[in-house]
Amino acid sequence: MTRLPSPNKIKTHRIYTVFEAAEALGRHRQTIIRWIKSKGLLADTRHRPWLITGTDLKTYLGYRREQVRCKLALHHLYCLGCKLPQEPAGKFADYTQQAPSTGMLTALCPMCGSVINKIIRRADLEAIRAKIEVTIQQADPRIVSHTDAPLNVTLESEAQSNVKARF
Ligand SMILES: [Zn+2]
Repeated sequence: MTRLPSPNKIKTHRIYTVFEAAEALGRHRQTIIRWIKSKGLLADTRHRPWLITGTDLKTYLGYRREQVRCKLALHHLYCLGCKLPQEPAGKFADYTQQAPSTGMLTALCPMCGSVINKIIRRADLEAIRAKIEVTIQQADPRIVSHTDAPLNVTLESEAQSNVKARF
């Protein structure tokens, strides 16, 4: 597997088309499309061109890189605050379906209390539920409707402010 591009190439406040994301990261358009279709990258795919927020792209690349580097256990999530793989606080996590075969596992870090996320395959969910308690949440609001984006946006900005506070 080739090294994933650095999230630093992406600007948080930009909106990218698939073509622009591919260009910014030096990857083929098909690669970006594959990330969206089967690897858990969030995108607004209701209209052409598909749109990806810089924040989602950065988050995706960041978590993918840490997952590769740390060889995380299925039920462990990487905490950007502690820079360590962590088991969810209270062995409890939420799962939000994001694409037909993937979703986001969200939990709290037991050491620093930060929100920790991990993109997982739907197929791994049962194995994870054998280790920790997982509550299935409704699909990400961006898949259903683009106008109101309650919970996940809050979690993301919280995670970001936690990260900023630590650097
Ligand atoms: Zn932590």
